[in-house]
Amino acid sequence: MGLFSGMNKFGLNEIKEDEIFADPAEKKKEEKAEEKKREATELDFLIDRTYICPVCEEEFKSKTVKSRSVRLIGSDDDLRPRYQQLDCLKYDVIVCPHCGYASLGRTYKTIYDSQKKLVSETISRGFRYIEPEGIYTYDDAIERYQIAFANAMAIKQIDSEKAYLCLRMGWTIRGKSETLKAGTPGYEEELKKCREDENEALKLAMDGFLAARNKEQPPYAGMDQSTLDYLIAVLSARFGKLDVASKLIASLISNRSANPRIRERARDLKDKIVSGLKN
Ligand SMILES: [Zn+2]
Repeated sequence: MGLFSGMNKFGLNEIKEDEIFADPAEKKKEEKAEEKKREATELDFLIDRTYICPVCEEEFKSKTVKSRSVRLIGSDDDLRPRYQQLDCLKYDVIVCPHCGYASLGRTYKTIYDSQKKLVSETISRGFRYIEPEGIYTYDDAIERYQIAFANAMAIKQIDSEKAYLCLRMGWTIRGKSETLKAGTPGYEEELKKCREDENEALKLAMDGFLAARNKEQPPYAGMDQSTLDYLIAVLSARFGKLDVASKLIASLISNRSANPRIRERARDLKDKIVSGLKN
């Protein structure tokens, strides 16, 4: 029981006794030191990898996660992976600083000659970009997804790949929102913006995956049919399209050849939707 406890009944924040005479400059210094330490730790898990751009053939370096050094600790309902040491999603996009060609690492080398021409004509002219020094901030990472998306549009990428980019961009924005600190200046506005942007990205992903399901054959951006169906179901449930979600969940649960991990997730999603409807 502290001297100033119970102040929240007046709608006021609790005063912590060790904060009363604390020097604000000292606190700032501590926060800065902590930030520096975090950056140093994140840098430990990154390497500068050299790439030869398939479009302009120039050499450049880009930061990559040393994949064997990070540990997956779980995933969100929509399969967004969570790692113990850092958010690997920030380092997914490779950007050539010379010509502006950018994509996810998985598709970086798979570009046709006709598409290279489209990059040169629509992206390279006037492209200016400086590779960030040190770790990528969330804003750096989100910019890199924007550049990758501009490239996907320029080269007329298929719907599943464009949707997958939107999905990963939405996940990255969620990562940013989780790092915002309550009580800091501008927190409410920034959180609101993040939530709006995440919803926009995930809604685009849902629409794109639905279009891909009608037009393309698996794999869809490296995913099998059951993973795609689960993702459409989880995103549809998020945006209130319960009819679409329920249909896909029912077919996933009854499909014995579907990926077992995904069937398990589909059952969990069904339970969540049912209990959400009850409440
Ligand atoms: Zn290039």
